[in-house]
Amino acid sequence: MIARVAIDLALDRLFDYEVPGALKEKLAVGQLLSVPFGHREARGFVLEVAEGGSSCGRPLKPVSSIADETPFFSPALLTLVRRIAAYTAAPLESVLRAALPAAVLKRNARARELLFVDPARGGVESLTKRQRWLYEQIVRLDGGWMMQLCAELKTTPGSIRTLAAKGLVNIAPRAKRRDPLAGRRVLPSKPLALNPEQASALEAIGRCAAGEGPSTLLLHGVTGSGKTEVYLQAIAAQLERGRGAIVLVPEIALTPQTVQRFASRFGDMVAVLHSALSDGERYDEWHRIRRGEARVVVGPRSAVFAPVARLGLIVVDEEHEPSYKQEDNPRYNARDAAVLRGVIEGAAVVLGSATPSLESWLNAKRGRYACAAMAKRAGAGSMPLVRVVNMSLEPGASIFSEELLEAVRTRLDRGEQTILFLNRRGWSRSMNCEKCGHVMTCPSCDLAYTYHRVGDCLRCHICGGWIPTPGRCPACGSGDMTFRGVGTQRVETALAKCFPRASILRMDADSTSRRHSHDDILAAFRRGDAQILLGTQMIAKGLDFPNVTLVGVLNADSSLNMPDFRAGERTFQLLAQVAGRAGRAELPGEVVVQSFDPSAPVIAAAARGDYEGFAARELKDRAEGFFPPYCHLAVAGLRSQDMKTVSLWSDMYAQSLAAFARRNVRLGLRVSEAVPSALEKADGWHRWQIVLRAPAASSIAAAWRWLVSCRPPPKNLRVAIDMDAHNLV
Ligand code: ADP
Ligand code: ZN
Ligand code: ZN
Repeated sequence: MIARVAIDLALDRLFDYEVPGALKEKLAVGQLLSVPFGHREARGFVLEVAEGGSSCGRPLKPVSSIADETPFFSPALLTLVRRIAAYTAAPLESVLRAALPAAVLKRNARARELLFVDPARGGVESLTKRQRWLYEQIVRLDGGWMMQLCAELKTTPGSIRTLAAKGLVNIAPRAKRRDPLAGRRVLPSKPLALNPEQASALEAIGRCAAGEGPSTLLLHGVTGSGKTEVYLQAIAAQLERGRGAIVLVPEIALTPQTVQRFASRFGDMVAVLHSALSDGERYDEWHRIRRGEARVVVGPRSAVFAPVARLGLIVVDEEHEPSYKQEDNPRYNARDAAVLRGVIEGAAVVLGSATPSLESWLNAKRGRYACAAMAKRAGAGSMPLVRVVNMSLEPGASIFSEELLEAVRTRLDRGEQTILFLNRRGWSRSMNCEKCGHVMTCPSCDLAYTYHRVGDCLRCHICGGWIPTPGRCPACGSGDMTFRGVGTQRVETALAKCFPRASILRMDADSTSRRHSHDDILAAFRRGDAQILLGTQMIAKGLDFPNVTLVGVLNADSSLNMPDFRAGERTFQLLAQVAGRAGRAELPGEVVVQSFDPSAPVIAAAARGDYEGFAARELKDRAEGFFPPYCHLAVAGLRSQDMKTVSLWSDMYAQSLAAFARRNVRLGLRVSEAVPSALEKADGWHRWQIVLRAPAASSIAAAWRWLVSCRPPPKNLRVAIDMDAHNLV
């Protein structure tokens, strides 16, 4: 019998070991083994067990021992891991590593044992008055952790040990769970009576779970339509059948309030996995899931790998969120992984969003996914009124329009709150005119050029074409061409000048570097400590403020102009989400959108709240330009600290790939020229990239694997491919 083992060295291959007779009975796929590797012992997961012996003629080395008899991966999870590795062209070990929290394997994170004091029955005659009191208290509390009892009863471990010597209490070590929700598990919530839209969405999910039709459902529901309540009841239905569920939420939306909604419905059944957990908490939560004590897992993208047995449902909330895409190896998209896992395990998958990704929307249109729509708000509040202000009519390069200032003033007078949103995507990448808003665009690809500081030029990242940076705006002749916008701090200063008596909270990457300050700022705003919250995309998601009646978008166009084929989609999503912040409670909401180009179809559709209209037009453009979802697009990245190496190899790789495409015409592979990326030289590394497009992702993966195997990169060059890339620069 041989075991095929993946060793954690990113070698992207399995190693065969002989299974000694003593281990044959115990060995199972998914276990962690200790095996001899070179001159040392290595740990690795056994992915396959097969009958037979060595295929190379030499005798195989034997497995040394089984490190943990309970498998870390179920066969279904291993299938998922292998399919993701193949799809993303990433080493198998890197996917295994992504699928298992590092803390789970850390020795120092192992379950923590503390002393527990249990009261026993016995005679109290020999006790002093004080000892008797202490014993009665311990009985009253029904025992407890030694340290906690000492603190609570103002006593010492010595006094409790005296009781133990007299046989009145037992003291023994016990595993103490490190609970990330400690103190938060309060106020159980009851299911709400669903409205008709919610009820039919729930029924549709039931059909997916029962295997009628597609297993994945797109839940297209406007902000506040009550998607979360639908998720909760769909999960409850699965729990009743003895099955478990995973809920994926974007990391930034994984706030205490979100977790609370699940915890108050399902109590201890809920496990949370997120990046702020300590190693110990993560270890305990993961093992609670593996043991089946927690059957509802809430977490960010990596939670798609949670070891839930008998999985019945995966929810991907805000499925369009770019944060589901991992930007490091392995570059998987958790939404796609969820859909795949659903198919492998026979679980229903719900993709929820007010603004679905065009990939999911097209899948639903083509009938690959089921679809349910919720167009009305479920609770109090109606959809806000949206007004677009034309900034090209405002004097000079002003940050705030007179209309927006007036609207803020009204809110301050009424004691209501305002959120001002500064769209920071795309800045310092594309070049536009300060005066008329004209954006420098590649004429053959109809995409914004990317500004390159090195060489002072504008480059198209799709075709590779470039032009020197223009001194004057080709549209209006103004000399105010810029590739940088205003920062939040500058806006804050300007805002404080306009409203000297208002208090303003600012939230951006700089103001939220501390671990909790993101939550702190939001909590302060919720309490009403400030009248205005100013922030970047960070404030656009999943937050519910009852007293906010005005949302201002300072520069709607800036994300529209970024050199990315998803620029229109991102802008629509941002505007819809931002608009969703206003008027979620009884007070009617208003949104003021500042734009240089109010008639741009994306801005106009967003102002109407017309997702379908936007999607129809956008899909047409994508089909014509051969962009996703009508093809797969991958970015091959090359970096080196030596400029010559990276430019030579990039050109050579691009030519080899183009030759491969010509030899395999039926794959429909399109290869761009090699271009330096906008961050050409960041932290000492020179970066170049090649864009690959093809109808099938597997064609791109095949071309890439062929390339790196027949032209392996030299030691001073790092290469990686980003399948279904979200970042084009
Ligand atoms: P979404 O997740 O779609 O943005 P939420 O689940 O946050 O929407 O719901 C918005 C509000 O509507 C919440 O305050 C929620 O409690 C309320 N709500 C949801 N469903 C119902 C219902 N069936 N009846 C009454 N209120 C509901
Ligand atoms: Zn101009
Ligand atoms: Zn171009």
